[in-house]
Amino acid sequence: MINILLATTNRGKLAEMTAILADLQAEAPAPVQFVTPLELGIALDVEEDGATYAENARRKAEAFCRAAGIPALADDSGLEVDALGGEPGIRSARYAPMPNPTDADRRATLLGRLAGKPAPWTAHFHCTVALALPGGSVQFAGGDCFGEIIPQERGDNGFGYDPIFLLPQPGRTMAELTMAEKNRLSHRARALRAAWWFIRQFASRAASPQQD
Ligand code: IMP
Repeated sequence: MINILLATTNRGKLAEMTAILADLQAEAPAPVQFVTPLELGIALDVEEDGATYAENARRKAEAFCRAAGIPALADDSGLEVDALGGEPGIRSARYAPMPNPTDADRRATLLGRLAGKPAPWTAHFHCTVALALPGGSVQFAGGDCFGEIIPQERGDNGFGYDPIFLLPQPGRTMAELTMAEKNRLSHRARALRAAWWFIRQFASRAASPQQD
């Protein structure tokens, strides 16, 4: 069994990643277990000023991999709104102008910028995941989830922009879905599902190196 570190300190993301990876593990088992920065006593704040999701995911995965000395899996994600030319995109976490913004500040900033623009405000979430190995290699996978932004918040689940992100099917916001429902269709679930084959391949090889 090998350990892979989940390279995030965002509690919403960590909870989702853990649940999605548990589902993947149940479907197609791999000799891997996922550990959190808290479990290893690692506290890192990685600068996320890369030009792409992949660059930011790579930075986070590599920084946690170096700090822990074990493989690390990071996610970089964001919301892209068509009426805003794809904003906030990779700046989704830093979109609100005030210091230490809350998720509510981010949502209010976004709705403020959309005011007066013709609806529907079509949008999608994107997620890129990166797996960094101690030898230096990094592998990537991505996923998207399409919907639209609505002006009134609905639902209490999830995090970030979930209460104002409506999914045409099933006609509920991300925050109105249970975590299990969100994890069947989210950008993060799609990216981790796409990454599972290389996570599994790496774990199988690392757990039985003589088969190489
Ligand atoms: P980062 O990946 O740490 O740069 O943060 C991405 C930001 O995008 C988060 O802080 C959220 O504001 C937003 N975001 C990413 N994924 C989700 C999601 O699943 N639901 C709602 N907001 C999200």
